[in-house]
Amino acid sequence: MSENGKDKLIKLPANITVRDLAKTISVSPIEIIKTLMANGVMANINQNIDFDTAAIVAAELGYEVALETPEAVEVTDEGEIPLWKKLIEQEDKAALVKRPPVITILGHVDHGKTTLLDAIRHTSVAAREAGGITQHIGAYQVRHNDQVLTFLDTPGHAAFTAMRARGAQGADIVVLVVAADDGVMPQTREALAHARAAKVPIIVALNKIDRPNANPERVKQQLADEGLVPDEWEGDTIVVPVSAKEKIGLEDLLEAILLVADEMEIHANPAGRVIGSVIEARRERSRGVVATLLVQNGTLKVGDTVLAGTAYGRIKAMFDFTGKRVQKAIPSMPVSVMGLNDVPEAGELFQVVSSEKQARAIAAERKQKQRQEAQTAARNVTLEKLFEQFQAGEVRELRLIIKADVQGSLEPIISSLNDLNVENIGVNILHTGTGNIGENDVMLAAASKAVVIGFNVQPDAAAQRLAEAEGVSIRLYNIIYRLIEDVEKALKGMLEPEEKITVIGKAEVRATFKIPRLGKVAGCYVTEGELRRNAKVRVVRDGEVIFDGEMASLKHHTEDVREIRQGFECGVGVKGFDQFKVGDVIECYTTELVPVA
Ligand code: GDP
Repeated sequence: MSENGKDKLIKLPANITVRDLAKTISVSPIEIIKTLMANGVMANINQNIDFDTAAIVAAELGYEVALETPEAVEVTDEGEIPLWKKLIEQEDKAALVKRPPVITILGHVDHGKTTLLDAIRHTSVAAREAGGITQHIGAYQVRHNDQVLTFLDTPGHAAFTAMRARGAQGADIVVLVVAADDGVMPQTREALAHARAAKVPIIVALNKIDRPNANPERVKQQLADEGLVPDEWEGDTIVVPVSAKEKIGLEDLLEAILLVADEMEIHANPAGRVIGSVIEARRERSRGVVATLLVQNGTLKVGDTVLAGTAYGRIKAMFDFTGKRVQKAIPSMPVSVMGLNDVPEAGELFQVVSSEKQARAIAAERKQKQRQEAQTAARNVTLEKLFEQFQAGEVRELRLIIKADVQGSLEPIISSLNDLNVENIGVNILHTGTGNIGENDVMLAAASKAVVIGFNVQPDAAAQRLAEAEGVSIRLYNIIYRLIEDVEKALKGMLEPEEKITVIGKAEVRATFKIPRLGKVAGCYVTEGELRRNAKVRVVRDGEVIFDGEMASLKHHTEDVREIRQGFECGVGVKGFDQFKVGDVIECYTTELVPVA
């Protein structure tokens, strides 16, 4: 240990190898290993030790240690505007140049999204230049009238929303495909809700006009009913009739996209900080991790160190969508890159950082944070949390996604909710629909910081899982006024804690007895969990709760017991109830007050 190292402040990353730590504090690695051993940690020279361990060792060797705080931007999903857009706003205005618009295609299944994407790709000059062979990398570019357009070619709002949920929001413009022979369908509405929630302009491609039963006028009326009034009807939605199959109207569609793009500020600083979105990524046997990145600002180059979520690495090679090797990628250009150490998630933001060491440190820190978050399972969007955000002025509206059993119940709910307006905080209904709550509803909620409300419907298993993972709150009702009341309370920040019931055991009534002083008791067999003397009980007959109260007595044979487990027989007395019948189920439960989520 060097003398002058005494009490010197050093900064260490979240993880460091024994070798690097030794170098940083100028001692021999052996000394570090010995100190580690003295603290009960066996490590070799190449092993990674975490910051806490490294700090103990360094302190013992006379150093004061602080965690190195990485200067890279943290990816947060707070707020309306995607982080990359915020960063572009911070760029020097003079350095901003126009970049190609990024377009995503949404619409109902079978309305022709894939066919349209293929048709655009194959009629494009860019594709023809490359011999018409394009690689599927999740995005491609076409040229129209000397302008370039970037298409994300994973159609469907699941992909779109996944990106948004992770804060990326890759698309500048949404093309909503509606089949002229089928019209507006449930997923058309869903897609519309997604696009609106993302505040991305929408162009309608009225597809399949070659079909004999196509009825464009009827579909335009349906679109108008959804608030997409066609421009020919004095509205502001461009509706382009196309046939993806017959390749009709494609030029008009590209024209319309460029027109809309022209009115927007679609720009970036090619010399600025490099940031973008992961479009897709996978591990290949021969090439390792291959990720398609869409550059949104700056210029990505071979040799750059990229950090995407918890994956990182130096870019070894880069290819454009035609499979051609390239050295750099400018804004709005999708490239597939090799060199990441792990597969990042689609929709994740990526950025270029100054060194691999820094990338490793941030990745380690993020992993640590993820682990912590997984442990606490922090809820993301609860009505209560939203109220805090109202107060902090972060959110000016309560966003809801409403699913109901039938259209007839949706209407009164929507109109009552729209009438609610408490202290200028309004309700914004992002999406409504009939049927059970599905994964897409939860995705949309997660991406938009919304709460899902179900009326006479249930979430399906996948939606439930996703809601838990994403911390999305789903609230179920079967009485309209309760629903309205709760939303109003949420707006006022007055939601009271909810009683959460946990059934801890069930017993089946097999006989009834009269016992002096105790009255009628049930002779039971514990079928699940356990019964506890001091817990609450309810009596269930034919699936219905017929009595809810407290236990009066719990006996095993003649002995009073505090609890009794599954597989045992017992005698149960319930305060204020003695109408037991053989076949009743006695459920024992505990309650706790939890803030309504
Ligand atoms: P997606 O589910 O929205 O991606 O729809 P697809 O692109 O897979 O198309 C569904 C079906 O509609 C396929 O059989 C297509 O061939 C057909 N299709 C797509 N576009 C057109 C069109 O413009 N005209 C006709 N007649 N059929 C089309």
